[in-house]
Amino acid sequence: MNDERSAIPPVPTSTPTDRHTISRRGFVACATAAAGLAGLLEMKREAQANAGARAPISPRESIKITKLETFILRNSWVFVKLSTDAGITGWGEMLKDKSKTCAAGAHQVESYLIGKDPRNVVQHWQAIYRHAFYRGGAVLTAVVSGIDQALWDIKGKALGVPVYELLGGPTRDKIRVYGSSDDVTRGRAKACKISPRAQGRAAYKYVESPAFVQQVAKDFAALREKLGPEVDIAVDFHGAVQPQTAALLIKALEPYQPFFIEEPVQCQNVDVLADLARKTHIPIATGERVFTKWGFREILEKRAASILQPDVCYAGGITELRLIAGMAEAYYIPIAPHNPQGPCSLAASCQIAAAIPNFLIQERGTSTHENLLKVPFKAENGYLPLPKGPGLGIEIDEDKLRAQVGEPQGYPQTYDRDDGSVVDW
Ligand SMILES: [Mg+2]
Repeated sequence: MNDERSAIPPVPTSTPTDRHTISRRGFVACATAAAGLAGLLEMKREAQANAGARAPISPRESIKITKLETFILRNSWVFVKLSTDAGITGWGEMLKDKSKTCAAGAHQVESYLIGKDPRNVVQHWQAIYRHAFYRGGAVLTAVVSGIDQALWDIKGKALGVPVYELLGGPTRDKIRVYGSSDDVTRGRAKACKISPRAQGRAAYKYVESPAFVQQVAKDFAALREKLGPEVDIAVDFHGAVQPQTAALLIKALEPYQPFFIEEPVQCQNVDVLADLARKTHIPIATGERVFTKWGFREILEKRAASILQPDVCYAGGITELRLIAGMAEAYYIPIAPHNPQGPCSLAASCQIAAAIPNFLIQERGTSTHENLLKVPFKAENGYLPLPKGPGLGIEIDEDKLRAQVGEPQGYPQTYDRDDGSVVDW
């Protein structure tokens, strides 16, 4: 590994008992006596403005959550922001497909969080998840995921270190990302993911014709020829292919060695996925619709996939992805975090990538999230650098984010071209 890590500042060692140290809040308190109310307010504003600086408070000072806000953007991304009385804020992201419900779900636990110390991250994960009584489901896990990211963000900022430092990292020098085949041809990535399409559409019929299957294989062979054998090309069936056709497509693609086949079928029946995995030597990846350690337990135990793709925005956040990675390590299985969403999603995923030993590759997502950041991500030669900033390592441009707040997108609607029946997308 290179020596870039030396740029990461150490955890501060000063405490409130240090003889010559005065805390930020202590300084504000002293000033109260000397200055009038106007002066105090001005100093408090200044202190809050500086709160994003590294280790803005001592680890022993108290912090309390004072406010929970949610933001739904017109592209359906949904954010949760936690504010504290120390002036430190934390950001997290939830599930865009259920943005309105997730925002409401976050406010449902608002009364629990207000007044609590945000640094007890695992305790809050347990309380939010287990006190809900009715466990699991995309909405509850998305709510706990977004809040978990925000809590880790605050904890990292309070200590002045990236989250991965608190998880025992770093475990690598940089983070491999994949994009589209266009990204590969433009030199922005050395791995990509494509969809199996032919005849101008995705595979959705229970048994697709030989013409359809052969066209998918032919197109993949042409792409392999164009990009070369050094490039990793994954194929995402998106859970929209029926098992009968999935088996045909996987067999037809095998000679060209796809990087992995993602979600060859829906994952609600894990045994069906396991059957397909047993029939091929190509790695099977899944996880973007699997939630928490309990969901991934079944995938692992049934050997239904050999690459896991949990999403940090709804599989349970940073806390849960670290545990899922540990479970997967016992099966020699790597993690390739799913990410079609915004800046918190990519930032939190990068913290995981930097902290676990069994990381494969990161889905970079769209570049539109760069519009929401003060300093955008910058991938080079197919890798993102390790985040250096405290917490999640990003700074949300709140003005830009608020400008994009609006009515989220509706669900895509897809139907069989021949008989109009509903098909997966
Ligand atoms: Mg996918």
